[in-house]
Amino acid sequence: MPVSDFEVVMGLEVHAQLLTRTKIFCGCSTEFGAEPNHHVCPVCLAMPGVLPRLNARVVEFAVRTGLALGCDIRRKSVFARKNYFYPDLPKGYQISQYELPICLGGGVSIEVEGVEKFVRLTRIHMEEDAGKNVHDALGGSAVDLNRAGVPLLEIVSEPDLRSVDEAVAYLKALRAILMTLGVNDGNLEEGSFRCDANVSVRRKGETALGQRCEIKNMNSFRFLKQAVEYEARRQVELIEAGGKVEQETRLFDPQKGETRAMRSKEDAHDYRYFPEPDLPPLILDEELVARVRASLPELPRARAARYRDQLRLPAYDAGLLVADRDVATFFDAALAAYGEGPEAAKKVANWMNGEVAKLANETGLAPPRWKLRPEHLAGILKLQDAGALGGPGAKQVLEVVFREGGDPAEVVKARGLAQVSDEGAIEAAVDAVLAASPAEVERYRGGNLKLMGFFVGQVMKQMRGKGNPGLVNALLKKKLGG
Ligand code: ADP
Ligand code: MG
Ligand code: ZN
Repeated sequence: MPVSDFEVVMGLEVHAQLLTRTKIFCGCSTEFGAEPNHHVCPVCLAMPGVLPRLNARVVEFAVRTGLALGCDIRRKSVFARKNYFYPDLPKGYQISQYELPICLGGGVSIEVEGVEKFVRLTRIHMEEDAGKNVHDALGGSAVDLNRAGVPLLEIVSEPDLRSVDEAVAYLKALRAILMTLGVNDGNLEEGSFRCDANVSVRRKGETALGQRCEIKNMNSFRFLKQAVEYEARRQVELIEAGGKVEQETRLFDPQKGETRAMRSKEDAHDYRYFPEPDLPPLILDEELVARVRASLPELPRARAARYRDQLRLPAYDAGLLVADRDVATFFDAALAAYGEGPEAAKKVANWMNGEVAKLANETGLAPPRWKLRPEHLAGILKLQDAGALGGPGAKQVLEVVFREGGDPAEVVKARGLAQVSDEGAIEAAVDAVLAASPAEVERYRGGNLKLMGFFVGQVMKQMRGKGNPGLVNALLKKKLGG
């Protein structure tokens, strides 16, 4: 198998839209999904004679991100003009940092199949987004400039990634960090977190890097996986056939599942970068950096470590919880309302990663919009511990509270979901089941003890899932003489 003689090498360029209220160089709103050309002004429309004015919040978010990722925060950085012509770029250039970006170095720790790895960052810089060309069915084209001037961070990794799984782990870890910092909403579909993948291959054991291709703008983890796998295979086959990989930019076609050449190195733009004359160099004062440092939240890795070390949660459970800051915060609050210690933590985590995650997926709702509150989840678990709710009943109550809201104890009452621990009621159900299944009873008494499961199931069915399982079992054993 020739492919296994090769390894894939990747470096990713992530574009993350910053969660500021206004654009990077003007006061227009950054709101997504507005009427086309609704959030525009002379500055982002590039009228002659206008001047950019740097949004202080963008700088603060860049510093916040750089500190969280362990970067060297440069006290002096410079904006440059990246010149190219495209209809969605009315100025004819993009303002971006180039030679002197705001952050250098740093990195992201990832874990794949139990192996830890530190993925180094090259740099992080600030830049403005371009507008969007819109093509209609009749062949007409128009430009929507709502997005022109929306602030972005470009986060560039070193070519440290060696598999698609590592690339996905890196993107997920980075996304969770940005979301925890509150600088990015992590929305891949809306394009607020997107990535270009630089991919090359080389024979195992080789130290020099192979020639790379850059795959543009993938907006889902699934597409990234497909695109990189396709591209790596294409490159290996090319080399095996005696050919040479050409440096080029490629596009992924999700319909066909393949990458296609977009432009070659020879057509590569000469961007004629030069320092932006309308913006002075950005000089950071120490006080700002110190203030941002003091305001950093607990990051996903630290939180996961706390869950593992203090709450004794398995790494897998901890990882699922910290992937979304709001979910982890919900978990913390639910656990505080429910109890202490590893057993309580495991129970709350199981519900969060199980039933609650399922309902969140089904409804597509993020935690701040759930009707379920942390106290509700704690309340349901307490009702279960007290024997007032069985397993199936607890799931039903959770679903009702999640979808409609309301106090768990009241939902139990209103819907008649309480667990039945009344011995008389259980005995009646047990007697009915045994009377209806004489053949099974005989086989059980003859030594087929596995039939206990059948009896329990029948009694539970008769009691619409509400019988107290402990009592049901005990009564069955007594009556069957086990
Ligand atoms: P450019 O500005 O043309 O995109 P950079 O040198 O900034 O080029 O590199 C961009 C990305 O490409 C970085 O993430 C880097 O890690 C990655 N990269 C560079 N060389 C290779 C290679 N041979 N194979 C895979 N990735 C690479
Ligand atoms: Mg690039
Ligand atoms: Zn504007």
